[in-house]
Amino acid sequence: MSFDYDLFVIGGGSGGVRAARVAAGDTGAKVALAEEDRYGGTCVIRGCVPKKLMVFASEYSGMVEDAQSYGWDIQPGAFNWDAFKGKLHAELDRLEGIYRNILKNNGVESFDQRATVVDPHTVELADGTRKTAKHILVATGGWPTIPEFPGSDLAITSNEIFHLDELPKKMLIVGGGYIACEFAGIMNGLGVEVTQYYRGAQILRGFDDEARGLVSEEMCQNGIDLHLGTNVLEMSKEGDQIRVKATNGDENLFDQVMYATGRNPNSTGLGLEALGVELGRKGEIKVDQYSQTGVPSIYAIGDVTDRVNLTPVAIREGMAFVETVFKGNPTSPDHDLIPTAIFTQPEMGTVGLSEEEAAEQEPIEVYATSFKPMQQSFAGRSARVLMKLIVSKATRKVLGCHIVAPGAGEMIQLAGIAVKMGATKEDFDRTVAVHPTMSEELVTMKQPVRSA
Ligand code: NDP
Repeated sequence: MSFDYDLFVIGGGSGGVRAARVAAGDTGAKVALAEEDRYGGTCVIRGCVPKKLMVFASEYSGMVEDAQSYGWDIQPGAFNWDAFKGKLHAELDRLEGIYRNILKNNGVESFDQRATVVDPHTVELADGTRKTAKHILVATGGWPTIPEFPGSDLAITSNEIFHLDELPKKMLIVGGGYIACEFAGIMNGLGVEVTQYYRGAQILRGFDDEARGLVSEEMCQNGIDLHLGTNVLEMSKEGDQIRVKATNGDENLFDQVMYATGRNPNSTGLGLEALGVELGRKGEIKVDQYSQTGVPSIYAIGDVTDRVNLTPVAIREGMAFVETVFKGNPTSPDHDLIPTAIFTQPEMGTVGLSEEEAAEQEPIEVYATSFKPMQQSFAGRSARVLMKLIVSKATRKVLGCHIVAPGAGEMIQLAGIAVKMGATKEDFDRTVAVHPTMSEELVTMKQPVRSA
């Protein structure tokens, strides 16, 4: 049977574009891709990239104060949201263009419309055209979700935050995960009065307790009004503002309320269930270790599978898919020991097990140090950083590395190599310190602070 394409990819985000380009470019496969929104997906258009640029923008307020402490005659000015927003979106347009060109230059045919699956080898585009393909790859990502309660429609999500007409004076952020904590820091740095509600006992659930405790403490020190064990009961419009009633009895007016309470896989209405592709409770597409669904010609990668929802993981899953299906080399993406960073202020970088997870698994030693780093301390700041290693007593392997510090994202990428290689505490100790740095503490901690 002959098909229009060897591969039809649905979704032009990080995972889909990588799979399409490598399948076409490296193996000469005939590939098409459909994207209903903008090329680049969540990461480029409404996630990692604009978020990080906003982190950079927000950090300048503190830098001006620090520069004064270092002897600079410099005065903080006002932040111009319009000027920044214009540049931000011009940059995103540029990046989207690059994504489109990557596809074009590798011979991938792209369709700027929604595609659904009508049978195991056929997709239907929004204009009614049908295309057949030997393989279909679903890489449609995820979408923010807001729980339903009275007035929930008044809240925005991280999708809208990059498009605000003006910066709010007072803002409520709901949630305690990556997105809520990152935007609490960003908005605070941009001069917005930020309140954050998190329903649980401590933000960043799942990460090392000591590390998330420090991030939370520093966020409060930086001026974020964080309320733990608190949720929204109802919201209503009051003039230009939103009145929020909270479970702790508080009632306040905010200019904006942003919900960052998780993201659901984008699998609705794709026609998958009718074909027998299994979806999970959140709508995630169930796949095996080769990203194959129960329908052999249909594969899925990235956030729509809700495995590890990170851009570099989606890219790896896309590469492994091409290796498996187009290069005859069955490869499953490696989801073990993934380093990750949360761009809070201060940043958290982490790889491997938290102290709590490791202690459940086997006897461990904990090496940790928390101190005021030179640069900030000289500037009169009381901010502390944390360097922490979790070590197996039996094998001496470093099971987890947790860093809370400015630049922790950059540091954990490198520490991640050592941990991934199975480095022991003694391997860390054998490495000469780079002095004076914050991360030198990772190779100079002599005594465990505790065993568990
Ligand atoms: P997360 O799943 O990380 O966090 C969701 C938060 O919302 C949790 O604190 C959760 O609480 C809370 N929550 C969930 N439901 C409700 C509810 N009904 N009412 C109140 N609170 C609720 O989701 P995010 O939206 O922050 O991020 C989505 C994913 O995107 C992340 O998991 C991550 O994979 C990825 N991401 C990665 C980034 C990075 O690498 N730097 C940056 C941004 C996103 P509880 O803990 O109690 O469940």
